[in-house]
Amino acid sequence: MATTVLHGCDLIDGTGAEPRHDVDIVLTDGMVREIVPTRPAETYGTVTLVEASGQLAIPGLINNHTHGTAYGPLFPSGHQALPPEQVRANLDRHLLEGTTTVLCVDGFVTAEGLARTNDDHPLTVKLASCNTPACLEAATVADGGGLTGEARAFTARQAVEAGAVALGEIGAGHTLGGGGASYLYIPAEVARRTGVTITARQADALKVAVLGRHISASSFDKDAVEEALEGAGLTGKLSVEEVREMVSDIVLPAFDIALHGLAEAADYARRVEVPVLVHNAAASMTQVAAIAKTGVPLIAGHSNHSSFELREALQHAERLKELGATIDLSTLDTFGARRLTNGPELLYAMFEAGLVDTISTDYAGGHHDPILLAIDRAGKAGVVRLPAAIAMATAHVADAVPGVAPRRGRVVPGAVADLVLTDPVELPRVRTVIIGGEIVVRDGARA
Ligand SMILES: [Zn+2]
Repeated sequence: MATTVLHGCDLIDGTGAEPRHDVDIVLTDGMVREIVPTRPAETYGTVTLVEASGQLAIPGLINNHTHGTAYGPLFPSGHQALPPEQVRANLDRHLLEGTTTVLCVDGFVTAEGLARTNDDHPLTVKLASCNTPACLEAATVADGGGLTGEARAFTARQAVEAGAVALGEIGAGHTLGGGGASYLYIPAEVARRTGVTITARQADALKVAVLGRHISASSFDKDAVEEALEGAGLTGKLSVEEVREMVSDIVLPAFDIALHGLAEAADYARRVEVPVLVHNAAASMTQVAAIAKTGVPLIAGHSNHSSFELREALQHAERLKELGATIDLSTLDTFGARRLTNGPELLYAMFEAGLVDTISTDYAGGHHDPILLAIDRAGKAGVVRLPAAIAMATAHVADAVPGVAPRRGRVVPGAVADLVLTDPVELPRVRTVIIGGEIVVRDGARA
């Protein structure tokens, strides 16, 4: 029997319980065997001993909202697949941040693409599917550049039969006029027409000026468009009318189809008995609330989306929570890049209001912040207690999406040995990651 002992660490076990100090965690054959008060190293004989005094053990994080983490079409808009080495780099990044399981919510990845991904990387990747008729149509209209024949043919029902654990992401920033339009499609079209490279935030300002936060043609605001054009250095290069037409053509054709896709996917989810994970943002909030009322197991993704105003987000999340939905919070690019978010105010407010069930990263145009960074900062700001926050990134995710990480998310005897050792004072400084009892990250680098 292969035994590893994490020696003399502190432990936050994912159940929400208070930290335990100076324990030994004994792992045997890929499972957690026991957790005992620390004893002298010699008493263990021939085992792999990981000296861990002064370190904090937590369960491996389970991230329910990632993109670009499996081989296949990117995003629920069926965008061109990333090169395989970029997918592996994305997985490395999640792994080094202490994540041991990710749910890829790109939505059109096939079982074959998933299997190849898992063969190539130690992190456990699970699949969600968004291949329902309306979501496929929305993807085709919005983009579809990466949708191979196999990807199109692999329906949500087949995906669930092949092991997909959720439907999602239903709607997305790419089909519902959210972040995907702002960091991808609008800048690309502006560059094509004018040769000018604009930032995600500048593109977002153009979008909101033309269609408003809730995405509606009637929200058009000429003065705001002029201001946004100036802010982006585009005055004289694009007229107000050209911007109106351009933004509308990018966002609106897929929008109503994708909105319809939300209700359709909820229906599918009920039939195939998996949770449905939806793009929850200002533009989709009415439909998301309507789905929640039907009682389907619902993950309201990134409920702190930057398109919400603060009070709106809190009230909406409160209502969804009353209806039984899981309120997911995404780190987005809140602390680092801030290309589309304005900082942690909403994230902190959601913690303080006790609304958060799960914590994920989402993609944020490739600039997501680590989950442990968000937990660390929120803990230090005093808006959430550490054991509760760790549970939101581990046990609560495993419970909310039953197939995503069976027997994981809690460091208790009998659980799969997915664990992280990190710095208790600076949580993002992950030192060791163990998956199924194997050390896959040592001294903060791939082992
Ligand atoms: Zn989304």
